[in-house]
Amino acid sequence: MDGVTPIGVVGTGYVGLVSAVCFAHLGHHVVCMDVDEAKIEALREGRAPIYEPGLDKLIDDISGRLSFTTSYDEVLDACRILFIAVDTPPSASGDADLSSVQRATREIAGRGGERLLVMKSTVPVGTGERVMADLAGLGATDIAYASNPEFLREGAAIQDFLEPDRIVIGAFRPEDGDAVEALYRGIDAEVVRATVPTAEMIKYASNAFLATKISFINEIANVCEQVGADVREVARGMGLDHRIGPHFLQAGIGYGGSCFPKDVQALKQLAGNSGYHFQLLSAVLEVNALQKRRVVNKLKHWLGGLRGKKVALLGLTFKPNTDDLREASSIVLAARLQGEGVTVSAYDPMIPAGDHPLFPGVTIVADPLEALSGADAAVLVTEWPEFGRLDWSAAAVAMRRPLLIDGRNFLGPDVAAEAGLEYDGIGLGDAHRDAGEPG
Ligand code: NAD
Repeated sequence: MDGVTPIGVVGTGYVGLVSAVCFAHLGHHVVCMDVDEAKIEALREGRAPIYEPGLDKLIDDISGRLSFTTSYDEVLDACRILFIAVDTPPSASGDADLSSVQRATREIAGRGGERLLVMKSTVPVGTGERVMADLAGLGATDIAYASNPEFLREGAAIQDFLEPDRIVIGAFRPEDGDAVEALYRGIDAEVVRATVPTAEMIKYASNAFLATKISFINEIANVCEQVGADVREVARGMGLDHRIGPHFLQAGIGYGGSCFPKDVQALKQLAGNSGYHFQLLSAVLEVNALQKRRVVNKLKHWLGGLRGKKVALLGLTFKPNTDDLREASSIVLAARLQGEGVTVSAYDPMIPAGDHPLFPGVTIVADPLEALSGADAAVLVTEWPEFGRLDWSAAAVAMRRPLLIDGRNFLGPDVAAEAGLEYDGIGLGDAHRDAGEPG
C-alpha cells in the first residue's frame, strides 16, 4: 500500500471514524462511507458527529487525506481494501445482530471487483467463514477477507489506536494478513497473526475477561461492605501483584457501554449455541445487573424510603470523556428510581439540558448545582473530572439533605466530610461512616 491508493472505511461511528482518521494520520488516504447522511454531512463540514477527545483537531490536521461519502459506488470505485466498522448490536436472543454487516458485504459483493474486506466490527467466531460462504453464493469470488478486531476505548480512542497494546490480524491467506499489517506501518506494537476464528475469539475473550474483572472486584466490594474492609486498598494491594495488575479493579455501579454488555452476552450465547454452557459469564452478567440495583438499596437504606424523594444523578454517559449513552448504568438507575416514586434530576457535561428519549421524566439541566438543588440525595454515576472541581460545600448547602452515594468511589470520604456531605461509596467498609451514619 503506497499511501496514495485510498483505504475505504464502511461505517464511520466511534470505531470507523477514529480508525479512518488515524490511518490518515499515518499517511494513508481514506474514504469514509456511511449510510447516515447527517453524519457524513457533519464530517464534510469539518465537524465530528461524536465527541472523542482530540478527534476534531486530528480531522482538521489531516483533512486533505480524508473524504466522506454516502455512496457505495464512490468508496468502491476508489478503494480495494475496505474496513467494515458497522454496528453489531445485540439481538433479542443475545446473539450479535449482524444485519448491518450483511447489508454492507452484499452491497460490496454486488458491485464486483477484486477486494479485501477487513472486519473491524466485533463479530462472533465463525462470521468470517460465513461471510466468505455468502460471498461465494453471490458469485463474488474475488473478495478476500481478514479479521482485524479493534480494542480502542472511547474517551482514549486515538491514543489507543495509535499506541495499541497489540494489533490482531486473522486471515485466510497470508498475503491478506500482510496487506493489513502493512497499513499499520508506523505503529510500534506487537502484531498477533492468527486464523480468522482465533482473531475473532481474541476480541470476545478480551472483553469478557475485562468484564469478569469488573464483576469480580464489585463482588469483593460488596463483601467488603459486610466485613468492614475498604475495596480501594484491597484493589491496590491486589493490583501490585504483576500476575493480577492494577487495571479494571475499580469497584463501582457496574459496567455499561456499547461493548462489554453486548460482547459478554454474545460470547455466552455463542458458547451456548455450540453446546457449551459458559457458567462464569452468566454470573458476570448477573453481578453487573445487580450492582446497578445496589445503589437503589443504598438510597433506601440512607433515606428510609424513596417515595416522594428527589435524587440527582451526576453523570449519565457510560464513562467520562464520551457522549456515548449506550447501555449506560444511568438509564437503568433513572428508571428504577422513578419506579420507586423518586423525582430524578440529572446533569452531564455532554448531554444537553431538556428532554432525552433514554431518560423519560428525568429533568436534565445544564448545571450540576441546579440538578442538586433541593435533592434528598445525589448519585455520582460517571466520574467526569469536572466533578472533582465542583464546589461540594455549595452543593451540600443547595441539597435538602447533603447525601452523596458515590457510584465510582471518585470523591472519597475525606473530601466529602470536609464539604459537609454524608457519604457512601461502593465497598468502602467502615470508611464512609466517618462522614455520617444513615438516618
Ligand atoms: P457506531 O454505531 O458508532 O457506528 C456504526 C456506524 O455504521 C454508524 O454510523 C452506522 O450509520 C453505520 N452503518 C450501519 N450499517 C451500515 C451499512 N450497511 N453501510 C454503511 N454504514 C453503515 O458503532 P461503533 O461503536 O463504532 O462500533 C462499531 C463496531 O466496532 C461494533 O461491532 C463494536 O462492537 C465494535 N467496537 C466498538 C468499540 C467502541 O468503543 N465503540 C470498541 C471496539 C470495537
